[in-house]
Amino acid sequence: MVKKLLLASRNRHKMKELQQMLRGLDIEILSLDDIRDMPVVEEDGDTFMANASKKARLTAIYTGYVSLADDSGLVVDALGGQPGVYSARFAGEEADDLKNNQKLLQMMSRLEGNKRRARFVCVIAISDLEGNIYTVEGKCEGQIGYEGRGAGGFGYDPLFIPKGYTRTFAELSSAEKNKISHRGQALVKARVLLEQMDEPGGRFF
Ligand code: IMP
Repeated sequence: MVKKLLLASRNRHKMKELQQMLRGLDIEILSLDDIRDMPVVEEDGDTFMANASKKARLTAIYTGYVSLADDSGLVVDALGGQPGVYSARFAGEEADDLKNNQKLLQMMSRLEGNKRRARFVCVIAISDLEGNIYTVEGKCEGQIGYEGRGAGGFGYDPLFIPKGYTRTFAELSSAEKNKISHRGQALVKARVLLEQMDEPGGRFF
């Protein structure tokens, strides 16, 4: 099993989720805050898979640690898959969650019923030291509400109502959200991958 894993991110929220999901495993988790001078990896791929794989591979090769990267976002079929890989900067490079949510609501203002269907997608890529990549994916289906509700979570959480629920992601506790979320599901699969990988080098048995 991998004994040391580098999360290719400085996001504390992601670090906390990863630590929770890998609880019970004998694995030390580092983040980019522990690495000096790691160059910024540009997320310029067309797919979540391309972005997560690039981040994991370049981070592993640069640092010499087995590295895990994720890329995630919201996909609305009626908008041709937008915001997709542009979820974080949907309303522009300087955009924040509020502006992104406002733009989404405005673009969907004439859409009703099935047209408000959406899903969150998360791809996690794990790279060994030679740049071999293993990926897993999680999805969470739902729909976009007509207004923001709830104070929890981040990003598009106040707008996203998961299938089978009446509350938005932002109205669920983090434990409830993690159980059904795209990232939660991808992390369950990533845990299995990590248990099967060898240290060092991260090659499969
Ligand atoms: P990244 O994976 O860190 O590049 O984030 C992509 C963007 O997708 C975030 O900035 C959010 O806008 C959105 N996103 C991804 N996962 C979630 C989630 O669980 N809730 C709300 N928004 C999310």
